[in-house]
Amino acid sequence: MREETIFSQIIRKEIPADVVYEDDQCLAFRDINPQAPTHILVIPKKTIPTLGDVVPEDKELLGHLLLIVKDIAKQFGLDNGYRIVINAGFDGGQTVFHLHLHLLGGRQMQWPPG
Ligand code: AMP
Repeated sequence: MREETIFSQIIRKEIPADVVYEDDQCLAFRDINPQAPTHILVIPKKTIPTLGDVVPEDKELLGHLLLIVKDIAKQFGLDNGYRIVINAGFDGGQTVFHLHLHLLGGRQMQWPPG
């Protein structure tokens, strides 16, 4: 069995989250420690620890997550742009091992990232 994370508990509504979107495949909620005026996490309901664990059958799900994150950016009025981040693995800065997309917006992003 795959290891449980706090995001599994959020999906099961065992702990609260500020949910902004939900469907049968994914859930989106505000990051508890926002790094930008808008900081939303979009997660698949399927338990996938990290991007390195995706398999070809996840192709449609991954496309769905990108379509949803684009819609949420529009919903939040991020018409001037935004950044999507997937931290993958320890060197990627991942701390919660349930695949998630960060949607960051509402300020000018910098490059390179830290
Ligand atoms: P990462 O470092 O890419 O794994 O991102 C994990 C993110 O989850 C961080 O930005 C955390 O602030 C966020 N996070 C952790 N626990 C919660 C929670 N209970 N509700 C909302 N966001 C959370």
